[in-house]
Amino acid sequence: MTRLPLRPELAELEPYGAPQLDVPVRLNVNENPYPPSAAVVDDIAAAVRTAAAGLNRYPDRDFTALRVDLADYLAVESGVRLAPEQIWAANGSNEVMLHLLQAFGGPGRTALSFDPTYSMYPEYARDTMTAWVAGRRADDFTLDPAAAATLVARVAPSVVLLASPNNPTGTALPATTVVAILDAARDVPGGCVVVVDEAYAEFRRAGTPSALELLDAHPHLAVSRTMSKAFALAGGRVGYLAAAAEIVDALRVVRLPYHLSAVTQAVARAALAHRDELMAEVGTLRRDRDVLVAWLRERGLTVADSDANFVLFGQFPDRHAVWQGLLDRGVLIREVGPTGWLRVSVGTPEEMAAFRAALTEVVGL
Ligand SMILES: *Cc1c(COP(=O)(O)O)cnc(C)c1O
Repeated sequence: MTRLPLRPELAELEPYGAPQLDVPVRLNVNENPYPPSAAVVDDIAAAVRTAAAGLNRYPDRDFTALRVDLADYLAVESGVRLAPEQIWAANGSNEVMLHLLQAFGGPGRTALSFDPTYSMYPEYARDTMTAWVAGRRADDFTLDPAAAATLVARVAPSVVLLASPNNPTGTALPATTVVAILDAARDVPGGCVVVVDEAYAEFRRAGTPSALELLDAHPHLAVSRTMSKAFALAGGRVGYLAAAAEIVDALRVVRLPYHLSAVTQAVARAALAHRDELMAEVGTLRRDRDVLVAWLRERGLTVADSDANFVLFGQFPDRHAVWQGLLDRGVLIREVGPTGWLRVSVGTPEEMAAFRAALTEVVGL
């Protein structure tokens, strides 16, 4: 057999990814359950048709029009007005975060986060040859600001990754915690970029702030967002980031040429034009999330507070058996997070009814 010079640290690793199973009720990857409306589909198709006529040319590599649209959207969504030069975008926020690690991580440097959190973070570190350190969240998945700041000072990372709302727990960080971490990061001798991954920001409960509000005062902060969740565009692969223009300029250095295709730019802009309709759907999902949390608690289960479009619940002595029992009944959720917990995405009312019926049978609620 041919020997391949695979990096030793990649040997025997499996590619990341939740099982993609063809079952009736899929509540395992936090997608928006509502497909784009006919009006959105028509506008996306028309935009792609226009883009197709120019596909012999490379796309606008600075996606200027899309950055303007994203800045406008953020101003409406969070009340924070940013310049287009403060916006970056890529093929999913996963690529945005890889760009961040490529620019600010690397050999001899460290990225820091707090478990349990998004399982992709250590993979960005590995792929950019950045050392990885994970602190711990408290048992209720919150983060103690003083302890987090102390760890930042001790580890002296060049990148801190904070998911807020966090996946898989749903926990949002209060501004005071983010500021404590930003303050500690400012004192890291070589400099430190703090990334707040707000993939689920649109689902946050009333009164939960966005880290976008902290950008003005903190030039070493980057806030990552995505169109995959609230915008019902997971298949479109569009993630983006808001930060000081200096951070964006660094990402422009490491990106591949023309990384955002003309088709992707067209699709994203067409979807953004329908933000009002999509935001109404987000309101429905937030309400249904709160109903789901209450239902699970009424049945005596432990449920983490959620500012996202999913809920972490438990604790089961054999969570795999519960996951399998649900799958046997056509309901796919996610076996993720600390031992004993399971995560379910908020689906349509019909999907939630199927989930409740299946769980009632499996657990005997
Ligand atoms: C889903 C998710 C993302 C979004 O990934 P995309 O690449 O934009 O689809 C980012 N961060 C977290 C924590 C997520 O759960």
